[in-house]
Amino acid sequence: MAQQYVYSFGGGAAEGTGAMKDTLGGKGAGLAEMTAAGLPVPPGFTISTAACTVYEREQRLGDEIEAEVEKALLKLENLQNERLGDEERPLLVSVRSGAKFSMPGMMDTILNLGLNDKTVMALMRRTGNERFAWDSYRRFIQMFSDVVLKVDKHLFEQRLAACKKSRNVAEDTALSADDLRELVEDFKRIVSDNTGGRPFPQDPREQLREARDAVFRSWNNERAVHYRRMNNITSALGTAVNVQSMVFGNMGETSGTGVGFTRNPATGEREFYGEFLINAQGEDVVAGIRTPLPLHRLREALPDVYDQLKTITNRLEKHYRDVQDFEFTIQEGKLFMLQTRSGKRTGLAAVRIACEMVDEGILSAHESLTKIDPALLDQLLHPMFDPAERMKFPVVASGLPSSPGAATGSIVFTAAKAVEQARKGSRVVLVREETTPDDIAGMEAAQGFLTARGGQTSHAAVVGRQMGKPAVVGCAALHIDEEAGTLTITGISSVAETIVVREGAELSIDGTTGEVMMGLVPTSDSEVLRVVQGEMPAEDSDVYRMLQRVLAWADEVKRLGVRANADIPRDARVARAFGARGIGLCRTEHMFFAADRLPFVQRMIVAAAKGREGIVRIGELEKRADRSHVDAVSAEVSAAHKHYDEHIESYLGALRALLPMQRADFAGLFREMTGLPVTIRLLDPPLHEFLPNRDNLADQLRDARADGRYRWVEELEALLRHIDGLAEINPMLGHRGVRLGITYPEITEMQVRAICEAACDVADEGLEAKPEIMVPLVGTTNELALQRQLIERTARAVFDERGREVEYSIGTMIELPRAALVAGQIAEHADFFSFGTNDLTQTTYGLSRDDAGTIITAYQRLGVYEQDPFVVLDREGVGQLVEMGTQRGRATRPGLKVGICGEHGGEPSSVEFCHSINLDYVSCSPYRVPIARLAAARAALAERERDLSKDSSQPEG
Ligand code: ADP
Ligand code: MG
Ligand code: MG
Repeated sequence: MAQQYVYSFGGGAAEGTGAMKDTLGGKGAGLAEMTAAGLPVPPGFTISTAACTVYEREQRLGDEIEAEVEKALLKLENLQNERLGDEERPLLVSVRSGAKFSMPGMMDTILNLGLNDKTVMALMRRTGNERFAWDSYRRFIQMFSDVVLKVDKHLFEQRLAACKKSRNVAEDTALSADDLRELVEDFKRIVSDNTGGRPFPQDPREQLREARDAVFRSWNNERAVHYRRMNNITSALGTAVNVQSMVFGNMGETSGTGVGFTRNPATGEREFYGEFLINAQGEDVVAGIRTPLPLHRLREALPDVYDQLKTITNRLEKHYRDVQDFEFTIQEGKLFMLQTRSGKRTGLAAVRIACEMVDEGILSAHESLTKIDPALLDQLLHPMFDPAERMKFPVVASGLPSSPGAATGSIVFTAAKAVEQARKGSRVVLVREETTPDDIAGMEAAQGFLTARGGQTSHAAVVGRQMGKPAVVGCAALHIDEEAGTLTITGISSVAETIVVREGAELSIDGTTGEVMMGLVPTSDSEVLRVVQGEMPAEDSDVYRMLQRVLAWADEVKRLGVRANADIPRDARVARAFGARGIGLCRTEHMFFAADRLPFVQRMIVAAAKGREGIVRIGELEKRADRSHVDAVSAEVSAAHKHYDEHIESYLGALRALLPMQRADFAGLFREMTGLPVTIRLLDPPLHEFLPNRDNLADQLRDARADGRYRWVEELEALLRHIDGLAEINPMLGHRGVRLGITYPEITEMQVRAICEAACDVADEGLEAKPEIMVPLVGTTNELALQRQLIERTARAVFDERGREVEYSIGTMIELPRAALVAGQIAEHADFFSFGTNDLTQTTYGLSRDDAGTIITAYQRLGVYEQDPFVVLDREGVGQLVEMGTQRGRATRPGLKVGICGEHGGEPSSVEFCHSINLDYVSCSPYRVPIARLAAARAALAERERDLSKDSSQPEG
């Protein structure tokens, strides 16, 4: 059977189903599902995403698909008893885009298609409403010309504004039929003036074809591509096109249009939430052209419709088992559903909705986890305004609280300025009349958004919730004068009548209350963070308790362990409070940077380097001694020995000084993590990272010379020589990692001694230390074998001295491709592997993360990389190494414990990958532990789901 590209819906039946999101897009699937469920949906048909792919490839749909479209159109015409272009009963349709993933405002919709100079008269006769007919026609010209003909939409808006001004009216609805007819003429003129004389297309079939193709093309417009990139949508298949017969919300006082949510998308509270406009069409609500009314007011205006809407949307919520975000239109008292989809929500809302839907019996505890996007949990840790400090800042205006949280920064009026300022490192708040999809880049750069117009479902509000950034919208007291660069705030009783501030002034917005304050209000940690840090009792925080509930459910189903990367006891405590089951990576060098240690570390390095020089010198001299003047040389040799001894003594002395400090550090970690494993990595970075900055020294040297401080000059010169001697052209691949431990075994010895002594100390206190000693940057088997001997010997010595044994293990970090390749051999000497996916990504890509920023941005823009491999684990390449290394390691040593400890450990898709290749654990930043727990649970649930469907699709027998 040939592939089907077009799916009709209407008359209580649909060819597609709600499960066909890949084919029909989200919107089309929702329309099919609602139609089949018997809900009032205007009939139509969906041209599939597969057709979009054909269009992308061939720039046309081809005869077969065109024929299918014709057939579906005919079916629709028969169902409606109307014809496209008919001068008695014209069919009017909307042409709507809809991809698998909802992309709010990203793709363009055209309403009232099918109108022309003749059909507008028919519409007038059929409805007896002249004003309505002209209003619909002028809207159609405006949308079609913007989306398809690419005529600047401002030209129409300006014309409309001028017309309203000359009639002295504020709202579109106050314009008369004659005004609107004139506008239609003006609009048509604008079109031909701006398209090189081409008249506005009058043939409805041509209109439909062009609109449809424009939707397909819009799939690849800059905004859409940007949105997909920003949201890591890489697997989407193109957009579908929905052609749907029109219903009209602009037919008078018993008509209207609106959007809503079955629960509050900002807080998650169970309330019927949304807004509507009487006598308006489609986009009017979201576009912020008129400020809409809250949904509960519909109960007064049209009580029956209100009840019906509530019943329907409740049914939808139960049916989809998720919060629904819906669109509806009322035509002369009759309700039509135009869209339903899962509602985007904030992290707070996601957690509350999950808990409440479980309590209401709509969802099972485990299923509720599939409804929470793990990345959203991050928002719960965002700062809030410090309550005490906040009182000191008078509120100068307030708007609708649309996306919770605190944002502070300097005012910018344009997206471009937001980007520019943010690039310079400034925090900015984007203040605009209203935002549009063109502002996306600026919104990404800003801390939060404040708009003068629009409601809870306006662009700024939706994007704010999605990005997790605070937004206050519909703040009518604001008057922005972009050209003058001023923001005027009127009607503030508590401060002054009016305030005028310039762009650049500092401002704070509270997305939780909708309040706006001048100045930078200090922020404080989130409630969840305060509980975790022991600054607030858990009982006092609803959010914290809800989060705990959700994460406890996650722990019931997840298979992956979750640990944290923590170097100091405070981080370990936070990690444990967030549910980390151990430390997967403690970077010992982080302790070396502390002010009280750095001098010792520097002494250790310089002395070691000098000592080594001595060894080389002795070796050279001894070679010469074989050949010539034995006596003279032997005097030199003994001098070299002396030099060596002195420096080695100084080196060992430094290590001896560091030992108790490291011991105390490790004991601190073991105490916090008692009973849980703590993986400690031996010294890893290139030594010169610890040395004083070369440029500073050079400056000091210049000064010292100028001042004639000769002794100091000599010392500085010597130090500089050593720094230069240690400097490497490519330190990332230089003298670091295990190579340090091999060439400076005393460092390994000191660190292992510190670890084992600390473990004994803690055990003496009655606690349980579980050290795992990890050797970094191993590339060859011998490296690990040698270090292992040294570690075992040192540990043995400590345990003998202390008269007690502490169980510990020895493993390695796999962060070089070679190590992954020879993992089978390496595993002979390793009790565990930990994939250091940061370095493994660097070494596999041959790309230094610290220098790669601009390259990666450019590559993503050019579509060379779909994702930043340092953010999302590259499954194909790096992931393959991880999987292979794990398999080879476990082939040698069954039960080898394997985890990852890169940044990826807290990124949901990477966590899913780690689950799929059967790792034992992921280790991530303490603050990302909740995300990793939830992501691990979702990966387990998704796998279960797949297994179940595999079982049931298997033929019997
Ligand atoms: P978006 O994806 O940007 O929300 P939509 O395709 O949902 O775009 O359409 C934009 C607006 O037009 C919505 O408010 C929707 O309700 C309205 N609309 C779409 N199709 C019709 C129709 N057939 N009749 C009436 N209104 C419609
Ligand atoms: Mg919509
Ligand atoms: Mg590393």
